[in-house]
Amino acid sequence: MSKVKYYYDSDTLSYKKIERKKRNTFKYGAIFILGSALFAFLFVFLASQFVKSPKERALARELQHMELQYRLLNKKMDEAQSVLSNVEERDNAIYRLYFEANPIPEEQRKAGFGGINRYKSLEGFDNSKIIIETNKRMDILQKQIVVQSKSLDEIAVLASDKEKFLASIPAIQPVNNEDLTRMASGYGYRTDPFTKVRKFHYGMDFTAPRGSPIYAAGDGVVTRADNTATGYGNHIRIDHGYGYESLYAHLYKYNVRANQKVKRGDLIGFVGSTGRSEAPHLHYEVWKDNDRINPINFYYGNLSAEEYSNLLEHAALENQSLD
Ligand SMILES: [Zn+2]
Repeated sequence: MSKVKYYYDSDTLSYKKIERKKRNTFKYGAIFILGSALFAFLFVFLASQFVKSPKERALARELQHMELQYRLLNKKMDEAQSVLSNVEERDNAIYRLYFEANPIPEEQRKAGFGGINRYKSLEGFDNSKIIIETNKRMDILQKQIVVQSKSLDEIAVLASDKEKFLASIPAIQPVNNEDLTRMASGYGYRTDPFTKVRKFHYGMDFTAPRGSPIYAAGDGVVTRADNTATGYGNHIRIDHGYGYESLYAHLYKYNVRANQKVKRGDLIGFVGSTGRSEAPHLHYEVWKDNDRINPINFYYGNLSAEEYSNLLEHAALENQSLD
């Protein structure tokens, strides 16, 4: 119950009761409640700006942890990137060079993604920058790996071709060293045994007893084994592919037939003196793109360094060929 208040009326010279209007009571009450509510709201609002709730604190910690993880992830990507760069360097400088493939340019390896913005959905957040950067790096890293992987596929194909190529070219001496009685004559100007005229000798003559084995100088297909070409007598021609052919002339006997596939080192025939020949020997020619070339440049399969230098010395002597 509120106190009853009076006032002194100077006209009537008496105390009179102050009548409080009901409406005013309500008005003051409403203002008080509203004021308190406003104050409480302001207090909570201000407090929330400086004091965090336990849930908020947990979220903040989580966010910090996430940022740290992103940074660590970027460090790991740095490492992966440097390993990959090393592989790319070796790929360009060694593998692709060795197998005669063009190096892959840096721009192609590290190309980003043009056109539409792939990272739009990641924009507009406090941590957008680190998330977008990390995603970009990861995408480029992935692309680099794809490019590198394709390059290695290409190298694998080239390597198996190279192996085939190396097995195919005529690269061994077709007669065993033990069977040679002497190195008769090499490629170059020689005196013709029949006419005694100096003329170009397009092959190498290996002097060996009749019946000494002759071996295929490289993998290939026998294109002829007959005696229908002038001068060569019984002879064998092998097509090695890649523009290479080898020819073995003046044979005593054949050990292969036309269209037969042969491997390097296969026994294909025996030394004889058929055709335009003075004594038992093998006349050996190497052809490249329909030209006869010096076979001596190809013996690296079965000769030691010393044997090779002896062979070079003998073959260079301008003597009489056996044709
Ligand atoms: Zn000859």
